[in-house]
Amino acid sequence: MTSRPGERERARDLLASAGRVLILTGAGISAESGVPTFRGASGLWRNFRPEELATPEAFVRDARLVWEWYGMRREAISRCEPNVAHLAIAEWQLRDTNVGLATQNVDGLHADAARTARRPHAASDADGSEPHGRLLELHGAIFRSMCASCGIRSDHREPIDASSLATLPRCSSCAGLLRPDVVWFGESLDPIILERAFRWAEEADVCLVVGTSAVVQPAASLATVTRDTGGAIIEVNPERTPLTSVATVSIRDTATSMVPAIVPTLPPSGRPPGSASKI
Ligand SMILES: [Zn+2]
Repeated sequence: MTSRPGERERARDLLASAGRVLILTGAGISAESGVPTFRGASGLWRNFRPEELATPEAFVRDARLVWEWYGMRREAISRCEPNVAHLAIAEWQLRDTNVGLATQNVDGLHADAARTARRPHAASDADGSEPHGRLLELHGAIFRSMCASCGIRSDHREPIDASSLATLPRCSSCAGLLRPDVVWFGESLDPIILERAFRWAEEADVCLVVGTSAVVQPAASLATVTRDTGGAIIEVNPERTPLTSVATVSIRDTATSMVPAIVPTLPPSGRPPGSASKI
């Protein structure tokens, strides 16, 4: 891992002086919490590739098999906890309402970190776990289900019994089959979430990209939208990515060692809330 000297300081200065920031995270940040990536050869489960299971067609063909796979993944993820990078981001969002977060991860660790960060403030802030509507889960959430018939979404942490079609989870409203509330191959992202993410990208002075190669859309576009509207891109990734050559600052390091070191630790001062200094 090599970064040019002073990159960390440049990143810290850019973030400290930014009016608005969009953070974009991917599998790398969760891998450091032990979340399996289910990519490549090691992602095979019973010789199925994720592309063969995470599709609407697979669910229609064999909902039991798809739920069995998700049950296994949910179990693996439930043993993982947010790491210091998740927590540093959650605490930063709590301090500064001008920090938005879009994640490609479905593991819910950012929401868990937000709950942990908010705990000391619980008395003054009765609102649940969602950090001020500024956590955009681009690809959905594995511990949330959606009714395949009526579309109702709900938190869903109970273990899955995928021993037969009859034991699969059902909608409490219409008794339709529930499915994981994640975006599958061949499906579109939620247009409302997508629109919010692009608005953040446009208004951000800095797009901080952590642990994603940013080749999957819309991640790649979000960072470049910030750059094309006059903002900066800061990349934190142990590997070079397609974004490296266009990033203002690119740091070859892991999320857990670098994110806590570069996020501003003081409350924002000297600028009105919601101001976008880029304009
Ligand atoms: Zn339903």
